[in-house]
Amino acid sequence: MRVGIVGGGQLGRMLALAAHPLGIAVTTLDPAETSPAAQVAPAIVGGYGDLGSLERLARASDVATYEFENVPVEAASFLADRVPVRPGPEALAAAQDRLAEKTLFEAVGLPVPPFAAVHDLESLRAAIDDVGLPAVLKTRRLGYDGKGQAVLRDALRADDAWRAVGEQPSILERFVPFRRELSVVAARGVDGAVAAYPLVENEHRDGILRVSRAPADVDEATRAAAEGHARAVLERLGYVGVLAIELFDVDGGLLGNEMAPRVHNSGHWTTEGAVTSQFEQHLRAVCGLPLGDASPRGSSGMVNLIGAAPSREDVLAVPGAHLHLYGKQPRPGRKIGHVTVVAQDHARRENALERLLPSIREV
Ligand code: AMP
Repeated sequence: MRVGIVGGGQLGRMLALAAHPLGIAVTTLDPAETSPAAQVAPAIVGGYGDLGSLERLARASDVATYEFENVPVEAASFLADRVPVRPGPEALAAAQDRLAEKTLFEAVGLPVPPFAAVHDLESLRAAIDDVGLPAVLKTRRLGYDGKGQAVLRDALRADDAWRAVGEQPSILERFVPFRRELSVVAARGVDGAVAAYPLVENEHRDGILRVSRAPADVDEATRAAAEGHARAVLERLGYVGVLAIELFDVDGGLLGNEMAPRVHNSGHWTTEGAVTSQFEQHLRAVCGLPLGDASPRGSSGMVNLIGAAPSREDVLAVPGAHLHLYGKQPRPGRKIGHVTVVAQDHARRENALERLLPSIREV
């Protein structure tokens, strides 16, 4: 079985590493010659929209997938004319546009913060009346890790916010006083089977994920609701592969924030902390293989390494800690790796995180 992956970042690298023991051959496509994935698997060097490169990827693959969501939908459709593309281009299209994404969530019964579409200053003013303040103005496309966003607290500052997002088609979303951020990572197979990982609690700073803890402390009703929402989105899209949905926990109720049609940073703990990692699960799904068990093995934590690598000795001295480096040059704000800790219970996990965190410096 040969899997082509559009994108050669750390997610492509971890998919390639998970593919090796399954006897699955991975080829990635990325413009960077020394991409994280190119260091561990054959790679085609080329742009995501370059038809010649896509043709080569299709010829090297029995099935194609992607590891980031800003692949042009036309590129995914071009591939889909040649090999099965999983998840399909329509999932990619929904995830690329915040308006389509929120509309999809509402359509399957996943509540979302009040929102309205914005295309100019006038519609922004109407949206403020509609949605209320405070609110967040977010570009519909190409926003990630909090980029392309402006918080709006005062209706008189509408033009500042409009300029701050580059006067691009956007949505205005009510600012919700969430208790915490959660995510659900789930997979759907070619046969329609669904496997969901336990909910994850995520700590962000400056819009970037810093620490995840899984399983999150939630009651059974919340767990079942999140799994139900994930299943509904997967089924509505006829989705095959791993999907992540980021959620806000607002006084016990869940609101949908955004989704990623791929393996996700908040699922990295599954490599050691679940019976089947999200990377293996995605490969199983897209290759039409049976899905694996998504149960946790204990209590896990994941800490992103941002901008600087810690001392290997310090990290590995923490019982239950595993180091994952992506082969990227450190740069301020850049994710260059992560550390997972797995322990028997939450208390021991917190102990391990307390020992680990002082050795991790963010730049
Ligand atoms: P996003 O790119 O949509 O995930 O937003 C980045 C971060 O901004 C989220 O992880 C939240 O911490 C925060 N955020 C986004 N939307 C809202 C909202 N409607 N209310 C409150 N905080 C938000």
